[in-house]
Amino acid sequence: MPQLTLSERFRDGPPSRRPEDHHAWLNAEEQRFILWGLKERWSAARIGRSLGINEATVRRFRGKFWDNPELLLELGLFEMMGRARDDEYRCLVCADRIIRRREVERHVVAHYLDRAIVDELYPVEEDEEEFL
Ligand SMILES: [Zn+2]
Repeated sequence: MPQLTLSERFRDGPPSRRPEDHHAWLNAEEQRFILWGLKERWSAARIGRSLGINEATVRRFRGKFWDNPELLLELGLFEMMGRARDDEYRCLVCADRIIRRREVERHVVAHYLDRAIVDELYPVEEDEEEFL
């Protein structure tokens, strides 16, 4: 069963926050919703309103993954296609299919960070450059 892309996951709206979670930090689903909103070019204010959280919390989350892009890779934003030896993955942000785990990680992070930062964090290896 293929996993849902962010657009499919939030087709019916944002995850709802329980009143007792009012002061809790964002859960993984809320973080994924923020990433979906950013991909749709929503403002932090609009994302915050939809989720029922403070706009500042949205900005704080964005700051966190800017400082630590590995956080983006902990949210299940890509899935493996078929068998492991095919080394094919699907991005759940945009549904593109990508060969090689390293490349799909680069690709996911590149949805949210500047190209220069991505190149620094995930340099293209020399044997890959021939194929570009
Ligand atoms: Zn993508």
